Amino acid sequence: MTSLPEKTNKKLGLVIDLDICVGCQACATSCKEWNTGGYSAPLSDHDPYGADPSGAWLNRVHSYEVGEGAGSKTVHFPRSCLHCEEPDCVTVCPTGASYKREEDGIVLVNPETCIGCKLCSWACPYGAREYDYDDGVMKKCTLCVDRIYNETIPEVDRIPACVRACPTGARAFGDLGDPNSDVSKSVAKRGGYGLLEEFGYKPVNRYLPPRMGLAPGGDRVETPSPTASTVKPNGSAIERLFAWADQALSGKA
Ligand code: SF4
Ligand code: SF4
Repeated sequence: MTSLPEKTNKKLGLVIDLDICVGCQACATSCKEWNTGGYSAPLSDHDPYGADPSGAWLNRVHSYEVGEGAGSKTVHFPRSCLHCEEPDCVTVCPTGASYKREEDGIVLVNPETCIGCKLCSWACPYGAREYDYDDGVMKKCTLCVDRIYNETIPEVDRIPACVRACPTGARAFGDLGDPNSDVSKSVAKRGGYGLLEEFGYKPVNRYLPPRMGLAPGGDRVETPSPTASTVKPNGSAIERLFAWADQALSGKA
């Protein structure tokens, strides 16, 4: 059992705009490129050009079609660790390898003390932990902790690699514990939401909902409220998107 800090001084995290993500995978490949040489190095790859590639990816992008006919829309859904405030992936760890930093809230794994038991990956409801079969240890998004404080690189690059690479500006990074930060303001303005909040892990990352436009018949489909993660399987297109997201993060989609 590993303890959590009573509180963190910051809540660093990502805000991902599902309305403008085009599913290009630049964030995922940039993440892999940086992290296979950084804190989590190396990230394994098996049969990368074959029919059934596999390996450790700390950021994955899923694509999903919501709605039907003229009212349909393709939504791309990037997925990585949400750096929860009360993560079970930390408290279940028997060695203290999985921990949450008091100074900025980032959840990390210490590869020196991880014994590869996988308890943390079973505890994470978001499927955000990646077991590296080559190294025999757990890996995950570090929010590019070896980059955001790195004074040897230009200041403009001191943001997570995924945010730096995104060609559409769909990703933003900042302190979601500060209501005056740019990321907090965009969440408040757009009704950003946390995934599976009903589980109580208090995810820090936020998603900005897609604007659904016009439904068949010309009716405008409303953007969801921040509490829309409580979904109805037979609900509207946007409700079904959230249902799909929940399934994806539970490893069922
Ligand atoms: S780089 Fe940006 S636009 Fe491309 S998949 Fe990632 S979040 Fe979406
Ligand atoms: S796999 Fe590693 S980080 Fe995860 S619970 Fe086991 S020892 Fe802790």
